[in-house]
Amino acid sequence: MFFKDVVGHETLKKQLIVNVSKNRISHAQLFLGPEGSGKLALALAYARYIHCRNRGPEDACGSCPSCIKFNKLEHPDLHFYFPTAKVKGMDDDEEKKPRSKLFYGPWREILLDSPYFHYSDWLEKLGVQNQQTIIYSEDCNDIIKDLGLKAFESPYKIVIIWMIEKLQHQAAPKLLKTLEEPPGGTVFLLISENKDDILKTILSRAQLVKIPLIADEDMEHYLEKKLGRPPAQARQIAFLAGGNFAEALRIMQSNNEPQEDFGIFREWMRLCFQKKVKDLLAWVDKFSRAGRERQKAMLQYGLTIFRQCLLQNYHAGQALRLEGEQREFIEKFSPFVNHSNALEIIEAFNQAIYHVERNANPKILFTDLSFNLARLFRQGK
Ligand SMILES: [Zn+2]
Repeated sequence: MFFKDVVGHETLKKQLIVNVSKNRISHAQLFLGPEGSGKLALALAYARYIHCRNRGPEDACGSCPSCIKFNKLEHPDLHFYFPTAKVKGMDDDEEKKPRSKLFYGPWREILLDSPYFHYSDWLEKLGVQNQQTIIYSEDCNDIIKDLGLKAFESPYKIVIIWMIEKLQHQAAPKLLKTLEEPPGGTVFLLISENKDDILKTILSRAQLVKIPLIADEDMEHYLEKKLGRPPAQARQIAFLAGGNFAEALRIMQSNNEPQEDFGIFREWMRLCFQKKVKDLLAWVDKFSRAGRERQKAMLQYGLTIFRQCLLQNYHAGQALRLEGEQREFIEKFSPFVNHSNALEIIEAFNQAIYHVERNANPKILFTDLSFNLARLFRQGK
């Protein structure tokens, strides 16, 4: 990951580069931002830049020995810590207690694929979908060990801790001491999605770098110029992703044309609205056979549409970034999604996504949701 591969955030990139060139690299920084905003991507590009032996004014060189090791995430002075869990086959043997070092293989795989991923993608990679993941006290021991070693190839040793909010509370004191008085040349890059869940004592020891959602124009530009998407499609994906690039990648990988989601969604809403029970059940029957990813994508799409309806109600027309049929649809549909039912509708969709992810029976799920929607639409009239 180079700065040029990070979507948007040009001002932040410049700031980080200035830190390095003026030798003002803080020993502990907290990259805080919502999912898919690019915290991990920025931290990686920054770490590469710090380690690079032939830095340019805007990016790392890409060809020095350090950069070459970064290509495979094999730099000896770059350490990663992240939440893990006990997986199948792990016994209570002290040696095999969960800790980041045991999962470095899958971690490198997911990161090399793209540093823009959802927390749920990581759970899937670990194979622990419904389990809680933790940064364990064993991890803190490992960090202290890593930092006790002499730096191998660089004046800096960089420790990236992803999802610092998942740090086991009883493990915190060990880490705090190191955060407060780290060995010279240590750089901690802490990454978090949720400030409220981070221990206050950790928060107060790190310099805050706030990372906002990616601006729609920046994402659109990236999709078009770097990934070669046609302009109209780039615009649509950026709109649906809402500043979350992990979501943009998911939309692209789902292989559905957004247009197709729209067609299915519109048909469904019409049937719920008209309460044509027989047709509705036939629709449910057909859609239940679509894959889980497909179902999830359509529900996500529905959420975007409901949010747009609310925007349309409060700022008529101004907020709409859609064109053609979809715009027309929202203009007609939005009066029925309003203060009396919108929260319930959005909650019902979020719940449905939750249950699709956990393999609920799709027929039951979509039948229930359809009748629920029919009721809520009547309430909104
Ligand atoms: Zn380099």
